[in-house]
Amino acid sequence: MKTYDLIVIGSGAAGMIAAIRAARDGKSVLLLEQQEKLGPKLKATGGGRCNLTNTLDNSDFMNSFGRNGRFMMDAITLFDYKDLMNFFKEIGVDTHIPDGFRVFPITHNSSTIIKALEEELIKQNVEIRCNTKAQTLLFEGEAIVGVQTLDDKFLSASVVVATGGLGYPMLGANGDGFTFAKELGHKVTDLYPAMLPLISKEKWVENCKADTIAKAELRIDLPKAKKLKAVGDLIFTSKGIRGPVVLDFSREVTPFLEKHGEVPLIINMIKGKNEEEVRVHINNEIKNNPDSSVLENISSLVPPSVAKALCILSKADTNKKFKDLAGQIRDKLIKNLVSTPLTIIDHVGFKQAMITRGGVSLKEINPKTMQSKIIKGLYFCGEVVDLDGPCGGYNLQWSFSSGNLAGKLLDF
Ligand SMILES: Cc1cc2nc3c(=O)[nH]c(=O)nc-3n(C[C@H](O)[C@H](O)[C@H](O)COP(=O)(O)OP(=O)(O)OC[C@H]3O[C@@H](n4cnc5c(N)ncnc54)[C@H](O)[C@@H]3O)c2cc1C
Repeated sequence: MKTYDLIVIGSGAAGMIAAIRAARDGKSVLLLEQQEKLGPKLKATGGGRCNLTNTLDNSDFMNSFGRNGRFMMDAITLFDYKDLMNFFKEIGVDTHIPDGFRVFPITHNSSTIIKALEEELIKQNVEIRCNTKAQTLLFEGEAIVGVQTLDDKFLSASVVVATGGLGYPMLGANGDGFTFAKELGHKVTDLYPAMLPLISKEKWVENCKADTIAKAELRIDLPKAKKLKAVGDLIFTSKGIRGPVVLDFSREVTPFLEKHGEVPLIINMIKGKNEEEVRVHINNEIKNNPDSSVLENISSLVPPSVAKALCILSKADTNKKFKDLAGQIRDKLIKNLVSTPLTIIDHVGFKQAMITRGGVSLKEINPKTMQSKIIKGLYFCGEVVDLDGPCGGYNLQWSFSSGNLAGKLLDF
């Protein structure tokens, strides 16, 4: 039985940086990873390009995580995107910001990130054990004392749980961290799949399959969700919607779906134009082409397949000249253009959820250290914690920042 200053469970962004931080501070560290190689999920990030972080200032960054975002104040202040870029520079990875916002390794290859982290772990003498699954956390009274794996028992007065969430199980997400937390008396909030495609009740989406709507605006048509909104590219699928805006917004939708069984969305597919602006646009079209059909006219605002679907929804004859359309139907069509109703009835599940909404309750974690308030020497970081951000480098930055803070073992 070997004793370490720290055992880290999970070799994602959070776990690897926690191990490096502790080892750099002179601690003996064991890193356990159940999969064959380090950083399986990290490898898949950003479509293999790894969107490491973004250039938002700390305050806006925290706000993007919603109500609980302020929890990350200490972690982010200690290690923000500039520190992350410097850290990677130090370990030989140049980063760049091609669109002025999202930060990538200059190679645009997540393997660069994993290789550099692995080399640094080795340089800092971290003992790495892949194919080694932590089975249970060992504790005595209210203090952690080690980790039990299938074949071994490892002792340590400090354990960092960096086991990630439930999304993409084939990349190592199995929810073990939630089980460990619960076994030791922690509350785990309700868990929902987030950042995933959604399935609609309306079948017309199928005819619009693969059509992309730029800058679509999504809202939830429920009284409790009035303030929620997301803007970005939307893509129709054979069963519903996907695309960046859907990935971002799905984390708001799935909890309502669980509660209500279906969620009414309102989509503006015409770059936020209001009814009056659409009327002006349509009238200009009629002026330029008085004999234009309803379909031709509406297709100047949305792709023809979507125009057709909205005409059918509004009971507007697509072949009719727009100028001959009855006032009532014209009004309905304009309303449907500005606020297209779409009812979400399902999602594709955790197997395609890029992140998990919910996690180990923030109330029982000290934000200054990431240590459990219940069990001494137990730390949580990364996605296992009840914080989730939108698309665009937010979630990896949180994993790196919280892992960095946990690895400092401030109460050691
Ligand atoms: C396809 C995809 C693309 C993404 N792209 C981006 C992106 O570009 N930018 C961004 O910011 N975010 C992105 N995300 C989200 C981001 O990857 C996660 O938020 C982040 O990786 C979480 O890091 P983590 O270290 O907390 O957990 P993980 O990276 O999930 O690591 C947890 C590790 O713990 C291991 N583990 C679990 N249980 C045990 C156990 N009992 N014993 C031993 N090991 C265990 C797992 O095998 C896993 O390797 C993406 C997610 C997915 C799925």
